[in-house]
Amino acid sequence: MAQLVQRMTKFGTAIFTEMTLLAQEHDAINLGQGAPDNQAPAIVHERAIEAIRDGHNQYAPGIGIPELREAIAHHQQHHYGITLDPATQVQASAGAAEALTASILALCEPGDEVIVLEPYFDVYPAAIELAQGVLVPLRLEAPEFRVDEAKLRSLVTERTKLILVNTPHNPTGHLVTVPELETIAQVAIEHDLTVITDEVYEHLAFDGREHTPIASLPGMFERTLTISSSGKTFSTTGWKIGWFSGPEHLVEAVGTVKQFLTFANGHPFQYGIAAGLQLPDSEFHAIRDRLWRQRDVLVPALEHAGFEVLAADAGYFVSVDVAPLGYDNSYDFCRELPAKAGVAAIPMIPFYTDASGAESLVRFAFCKRVEVLEEAATRLERAFR
Ligand code: PMP
Ligand code: GLN
Repeated sequence: MAQLVQRMTKFGTAIFTEMTLLAQEHDAINLGQGAPDNQAPAIVHERAIEAIRDGHNQYAPGIGIPELREAIAHHQQHHYGITLDPATQVQASAGAAEALTASILALCEPGDEVIVLEPYFDVYPAAIELAQGVLVPLRLEAPEFRVDEAKLRSLVTERTKLILVNTPHNPTGHLVTVPELETIAQVAIEHDLTVITDEVYEHLAFDGREHTPIASLPGMFERTLTISSSGKTFSTTGWKIGWFSGPEHLVEAVGTVKQFLTFANGHPFQYGIAAGLQLPDSEFHAIRDRLWRQRDVLVPALEHAGFEVLAADAGYFVSVDVAPLGYDNSYDFCRELPAKAGVAAIPMIPFYTDASGAESLVRFAFCKRVEVLEEAATRLERAFR
């Protein structure tokens, strides 16, 4: 009888699934999985509904509908000054997740080394394993979670092929700064490496911070594949409309693999997201400001309850240390939390190759309505103070 291939056996059930089930079992407020309960601007929904009514219910073109590819090109030009040919330098994908897996399968030969910011989103190690590549972790150390130049340089070998960047960063909540991106760019150029960058939280930077795509740095466009998604910006994670863009040779390579994963997806939703990506800046700011307010409800509540708050610069998440509460293992803490407090969170241990020294880090999501976060705050305070 066939069995799960050996190299995938270590993955088991995703931590998001495990903690969501535990939250349901205890009727806990789920601040684990990054599932927003906001709504997109109305036009995003309306255009998708219209597209269903207009009969756009069969396969989309494999590379995505022209309206979406043009909207992505417009978005990159308008927000970042990056010029893309929508015919050859942009493709749609089944969320950022498919784009990530397709790009690693397309660009990583067996035995190639991929430098990944650690802690890392769970898709990355699984995709690298599928490609039979080697994940080389570049540890971001708490509390700052900055990219360290000497450490990065020490990891580059003859077999290094890719650097996988994620900013704003999941799970830490760190926004990778321009000097950090410049360091990565310099190393990539010196060693002729390709960069894959996952920027799904690009519009959600707080306190006046601005997201910078690494593709916009000098000399980087030609060697960077940029991945993003509509799910986080427009609170449409269930639609799974993502995309990848960059120089034609990289987009074509990734598209070659992508066409045999899903071929195409979400035809009517692509119309909705095409409309969303062309909204005026004020709409993007309103989306960011709402999440910023939500962060500003959860973060003080966590501090008040006794957690050491580490980072929440951007994205959906705040990382905390639970050691001050007497826990040295984030798994133990998160398995106990739903029953103890009626709240769920995500342990960061599974996002490390070797979590030594980071075992007590936990991620909370704040992509929930203020009243939900306030209730979570009350529960955490009751449980820990
Ligand atoms: N990358 C990161 C960093 C994420 O947090 C997520 C979350 N879902 C994804 C990729 C996957 O995005 P999508 O849902 O569009 O596949
Ligand atoms: N990206 C989201 C998170 O990090 C959801 C991931 C998932 O459920 N697979 O929470």
